[in-house]
Amino acid sequence: MRVSVAFLGTGGPEAGSDDMPAVAVTVGGTVVLLDAGEGVQHKLVRLGIGLSRVRYVLVTHLHGDHVLGLIPLIQTRALTSGDSQSLLIVGPSGTARYLRESFSSLFFNPGESVEVREVRGWDTVELYGRVRATAVPLEHSIETYGYRLNFGGGEDFCYITDTRPLNTELLRGCLVIIHDSTFSWIDLDKAEEFKHSTALEAGRVASEAGSKLLLLYHISPRYSSRSFLEAEARRFFRQAYAAEKYMKLVLEL
Ligand SMILES: [Zn+2]
Repeated sequence: MRVSVAFLGTGGPEAGSDDMPAVAVTVGGTVVLLDAGEGVQHKLVRLGIGLSRVRYVLVTHLHGDHVLGLIPLIQTRALTSGDSQSLLIVGPSGTARYLRESFSSLFFNPGESVEVREVRGWDTVELYGRVRATAVPLEHSIETYGYRLNFGGGEDFCYITDTRPLNTELLRGCLVIIHDSTFSWIDLDKAEEFKHSTALEAGRVASEAGSKLLLLYHISPRYSSRSFLEAEARRFFRQAYAAEKYMKLVLEL
C-alpha cells in the first residue's frame, strides 16, 4: 500500500513556534492526522491538503501542544465542507469533554458528522478500508497513547510520542517509527523528569524493535541544530533522521 507522510510540525512547545506536533498520513486520498498542534489547518492548506480530506484525527494526549489546533481545524472544516464528510476523532479519556466544552463555549455545533472515540490501551479502531489503528499505552505524565497504523500488510507505521522509552517487544513489527526525541542524552535527567525520550534512546528502541526507518520527533527548541541528535541516534540505529516541518515521505507498507 502506498502511504504518503507529511510532517506538519515536529518540535516541542516554544513561544512563537510554528512547529507544533502534527503528521498527515494519506492513503488512497484519505488523510489520517496524527495529533493536531497549533496552526495545523494552515499547514494542511499550504501543502495542498484540503481539510475535508481529513477524516480521522488520532490524538496522543491532551497537552496543548498536541491539540490546540484541533478546534480551529474542526470549525473551519465544518464551515467549508458542511456535514458531507464525517470526522472521527480518536483519543484518550477526556477528549470528548475537551471538544464538547470548547464547542459549547464557542456557541458552535459541529453537527452529527463529528464523532469521538475514546480509547484504552491496545484498543484497535477500524478506520476505513484495510486501515486500522491500535492504541499503544505510553509512559508520559498524563494518559497518552501512541498509534500503530496498519494498512492491511504485515508491518506497521508507528507514532510514538510523548513517552519514556517503551519495552521494545511492544514495538516489534514497526517498520517505520516516528519517535519522541525531545532531548539529547546529555539532558537525560530532563527526559526522565518530564517523561520524554532522548535521541539516543529512540535509536536504541528502533534498533531493538527491528525497524527499518526512524524519524526523530518532538525535538526541543533548546537545540539549535538537529544533526547532532541524528548522530546520537545513529550510535544505535543507522537509518535515523530528524524530522523537519514539511518533510514528506512516500512509503510502501
Ligand atoms: Zn508534547
